[in-house]
Amino acid sequence: GLGLGATNGLGVDGEALDGVADAVDFIEDLRQATAMEKVAVGSNVVVIGGGMTAIDAAVQSKLLGADEVTLVYRRGADRMNASPYEQSLAKEKGVVLRHWARPEKIDAGPDGKVGSISFARTKDEGGKLTDTGAHFTLEADMVLKAIGQTFVPVPLQSSSVEVALEAGRIKAGADRLTSHPKIWAGGDAVAGGEDLTVAAVEDGKQAALSIHNALTGA
Ligand SMILES: Cc1cc2nc3c(=O)[nH]c(=O)nc-3n(C[C@H](O)[C@H](O)[C@H](O)COP(=O)(O)OP(=O)(O)OC[C@H]3O[C@@H](n4cnc5c(N)ncnc54)[C@H](O)[C@@H]3O)c2cc1C
Repeated sequence: GLGLGATNGLGVDGEALDGVADAVDFIEDLRQATAMEKVAVGSNVVVIGGGMTAIDAAVQSKLLGADEVTLVYRRGADRMNASPYEQSLAKEKGVVLRHWARPEKIDAGPDGKVGSISFARTKDEGGKLTDTGAHFTLEADMVLKAIGQTFVPVPLQSSSVEVALEAGRIKAGADRLTSHPKIWAGGDAVAGGEDLTVAAVEDGKQAALSIHNALTGA
């Protein structure tokens, strides 16, 4: 149950500017904070992504006092991983949801920190995401990246045991047994999962039952 240890980058110029952060780190800081006023938030926040992390980061930014929060997703609302409920919750809290745009570059403001983020408008062409040729720029003093997390197999690679991977994550059966007869895995670290807490908990239950059976010979 190693979870997903790394986050995806945007791969655009300006990503290293002060004020550009991973949404997961932002949420982590928020969760660890002893007082909400200690959590740094911009007044003009742009969140990139379409999943629950993006929604969480956008809603929390608004609740922390940001004036403007815009969530930008590269496809339509129906393709967002965040549920319609989460999307409407974000709108209720004042988050502006913009679709069909992908980040192109991030520019610094006069203070040298992030000042704006530019987008290329996108469209679906036969199932393939392409640019329309149009562009727009949003002012931002904080950009939060929420475009997915990835599994880091380092602990597995550095150990003496071998566990097979599938699509970059641990391969496990319905009983959560891996390719190694004494190792079970579950949650986000496992291939083909739903990346939900409830699924991780269920995996723990199935793995525990399977481990019990293996130990008792049931
Ligand atoms: C911002 C955000 C919002 C989310 N919102 C929702 C939501 O609303 N509903 C929902 O169902 N899911 C949500 N999720 C997804 C949910 O958090 C995950 O699906 C769930 O936490 C997966 O559980 P896990 O046990 O597989 O991994 P994790 O919860 O990531 O736990 C893995 C643990 O393993 C530890 N670890 C890693 N490597 C090692 C090592 N080598 N040695 C020791 N320990 C190690 C990590 O430190 C971590 O504590 C959200 C995720 C994020 C990031």
